Amino acid sequence: MALALTYRRNHYATAGKIAVTRFTEHLKHHCDSYICMLTSFSFTLKQVRSRMAQSPYFVETRWGGSEDSPPVKRLAEIVDELNVNDSEHPDTWLVHEESGWTLRLDEEGFAYLDDPDLSTMGHMNSVSRAKGLELWIKFVEAGPKGVESFTWVQGPRIFSELEIRNQRIESERIILESDREFFQQLGTEDQTQSGKNASCTRGRIEYSVFCAVHHFEQIRKRPCPFV
Ligand SMILES: [Zn+2]
Repeated sequence: MALALTYRRNHYATAGKIAVTRFTEHLKHHCDSYICMLTSFSFTLKQVRSRMAQSPYFVETRWGGSEDSPPVKRLAEIVDELNVNDSEHPDTWLVHEESGWTLRLDEEGFAYLDDPDLSTMGHMNSVSRAKGLELWIKFVEAGPKGVESFTWVQGPRIFSELEIRNQRIESERIILESDREFFQQLGTEDQTQSGKNASCTRGRIEYSVFCAVHHFEQIRKRPCPFV
């Protein structure tokens, strides 16, 4: 559950990043790390909320595009995107501005109803794409009241031990992949220029006073897995 929440918070950070270009640049510059984005979460959420005030609703599509009050035809397309398997971007959500509630749909056919503090108040399984669209349309019209007649299971989805284990493995895989991408971007070390860390024998990389390994650790605040 904690992992799912962490993942979701990161997803929200992404939403805010897209909503506010200046903040995106700030994030790119200072917080290119996954972990850093998590700590930016509370600030980001404020940006998301201020965006909400300008629109009756908005949708965060599963691949990160934020759209203000898309028409039903477009909502249907966004829901249909869930037919592609992509566990790194498993869900899409619609935020109802007036209530501050969120109705989230995922590729596994779950729907989730989140209150303004992002606590999941109810969930539902076996939600077909058509039913997901129907939920969204009713949610657009009247927020949480619009969907209260559906049969929700109270609270968040409960995961089995196995599901939690698989989520952890998947989450670790995603972080490692992101780390590898970042590490590769650091480029080659110049062996004629030693890094700033006195005990280190590696050369510095072009845009840092450190070698690739120490630069990685400086930015991501944890040991480099590629030593
Ligand atoms: Zn070093």
